[in-house]
Amino acid sequence: MNYLLFTIDFEPDYPPMGNTFLGIEETSKILGLLASWSIRATFFVTAQLAQKFPDVIQTIQNAGHEIGCHGWRHEALSKNGVLGITAIPRAMVKPTITQATDILTAICGSSPKSFRAPYYSYSHKILPLLVMLGYVVDSSRLANPYLSNSVLPYAPFTLQGDQRYFLEVPVHSGTTNEGINYSGLCSYSLRLAGLEAVQSATLKLIRKQENEHSVSVFSCHPWEFVANPPWKDTQNIFIWKDSDKLYQRLNDYLKFMSANFHPISLTMCQFQQNWKFSSYPESL
Ligand SMILES: [Zn+2]
Repeated sequence: MNYLLFTIDFEPDYPPMGNTFLGIEETSKILGLLASWSIRATFFVTAQLAQKFPDVIQTIQNAGHEIGCHGWRHEALSKNGVLGITAIPRAMVKPTITQATDILTAICGSSPKSFRAPYYSYSHKILPLLVMLGYVVDSSRLANPYLSNSVLPYAPFTLQGDQRYFLEVPVHSGTTNEGINYSGLCSYSLRLAGLEAVQSATLKLIRKQENEHSVSVFSCHPWEFVANPPWKDTQNIFIWKDSDKLYQRLNDYLKFMSANFHPISLTMCQFQQNWKFSSYPESL
């Protein structure tokens, strides 16, 4: 069984540089593309965005996708994240995530069950808070198909038996902290490295799993689809290359996945219910 977990981080444009929401205007095209490949996706949404665009969130839910939490205003939760963004004070993490969860619950009609830390600022110290708030999945930890051994989902708790249902689902992004450009399964790599590089990263990832099941986690941002974006790349972090070709490349990538792996597409929550994760323990 090959699982494809398609994720979209729904947030302000190009954080932390932008404070606009032009990416939201891409929603219907993104939903159309997902529908054409029968993809059930997980949208990790900042609570601020959900407050500004509740109708968009409703449309996404009506299309059968899951709404997960991506922080309140896209604040870094620990120093571990990409881009070297300064984290909010430790004392602010609990109230920030609690408030974001409450806002999403009110807008969505049910509480979010999946979480992704902004900037992939993963910290295992946050996991007990997520459990307390009712989450069952965290998908914040970067795992590069070319570098990391921890590419499979696992239960991060080994001792607290009643918490073994909680699943960590690593993200197969190409970003590394070493500044080396390896391609991953993400829109960033599709733009900068191209379709063939992402296909080859996927083959590498699936071969590496050597399991009867494989899991591929693809991630993207709506603002990466905005052609000729107005915001400035003042820190030269993202090169604005090939935004206008991203839909076509993503479509071709999903075609490649479909033809080669016949993947089962699930939301994070659906996947958590299906995955037998007891054989992949990792202690805190
Ligand atoms: Zn984000």
